[in-house]
Amino acid sequence: MSQQTKIAIIGSGPAGYSAAIYNARAQLDPVLLAGHEIGGQLMYTTEVENFPGFSDGIMGPTLMAGFKLQAEKFGTEVKFESVYAVDFSKRPFKLWTHHNQGDLDPLFLDPSEYKKFKNELQKNPHDLEADSVIVATGATAMMLGIENEKKLLGRGVSTCAVCDAAFFKDRKVFVVGGGDSAMEDALALANFSDQVTVIHRRNEFRASKIMQQRVLNHKHIQILWNSEVIAINGDKQLDSITVLTEGKNQQLEADGLFLAIGHRPVTSIFKDELELTPDNYIVTAQSPTKLGVEMAKGRLNQKKIVAYPTMTSVEGVFAAGDVVDVRYRQAITASGMGVAAALDAEAWLSHSK
Ligand code: NAP
Repeated sequence: MSQQTKIAIIGSGPAGYSAAIYNARAQLDPVLLAGHEIGGQLMYTTEVENFPGFSDGIMGPTLMAGFKLQAEKFGTEVKFESVYAVDFSKRPFKLWTHHNQGDLDPLFLDPSEYKKFKNELQKNPHDLEADSVIVATGATAMMLGIENEKKLLGRGVSTCAVCDAAFFKDRKVFVVGGGDSAMEDALALANFSDQVTVIHRRNEFRASKIMQQRVLNHKHIQILWNSEVIAINGDKQLDSITVLTEGKNQQLEADGLFLAIGHRPVTSIFKDELELTPDNYIVTAQSPTKLGVEMAKGRLNQKKIVAYPTMTSVEGVFAAGDVVDVRYRQAITASGMGVAAALDAEAWLSHSK
């Protein structure tokens, strides 16, 4: 027999836990499925300086532990399970959180392989049945898409400087990217090594000014502007990288290569279930995209206010945080959107009784 709940929340970053705190305080007994990257992206960060209320900063994992405690305190059931498939075609919605297809990680299958996996999985009984769902699955690190990158992941190539920086004490390390993540990674690495180089494809960073200044003024960090990594070299371990700078190739000895080139939304399991943007973000009536604006226009109520702004293309399914957000992608905006989704879900549940 599957478990039943009024609200299932998928994801354990700031959006998921904030939704859970609100829904639990409204005595809806939400079930939160914590998923693959438990605690979300803040688990891979050090000090968070811009989350309001913590004037001295707070460590990312400490902040997330607090979110979890607060959600549980009011009655959220947190389950350390991932959702592998959903059926949003009719209510109650069905979720599968177990599979018996070996070690395979369905979240990283390509779309046609995932379809086969899902068809097999849905022959089994579902694990959870929910009257409403809040999707807060967030985003995951992007890769360059060049040869050797996946093979050498964990062997010199990394997407998490905060996790791995200590392994690169006094080593030659490179960070790719020009956003806040790249700045954060370069600074984390510079605590351990005085040979840190940021490789950026343009001649200016897109990171916040304060982070840029810290990197540009750091004596252990150099910048390679207008440059791209075009090859990752090494057999069992990273040896070197080939960098193209304004038409010229150079091979640089490298112990570590940290990729900080942004994130993509985690939506593979929602592909045939919810409307997505061409970049695979979930569309809601508050998405700052053409599809979102169209959805909002279609949801205007008699008072000309958008009903349930965080609702997706499926009635009763809401979405919040980086899985929707093409624009701000901050912990505090994800948190706020999670609260909005919780309030929308609560209102929708009470009206759809
Ligand atoms: P981002 O802001 O999207 O930056 C990605 C960077 O990678 C850009 O500089 C981009 O270059 C570069 N890039 C993208 N694809 C590339 C490719 N294929 N090859 C080479 N370079 C590539 O991503 P992010 O730094 O992960 O940040 C995401 C969001 O989280 C942002 O909103 C950021 O403010 C936030 N964040 C905040 C903090 C903080 O407040 N402390 C920390 C981390 C992240 P272009 O500039 O040329 O496009």
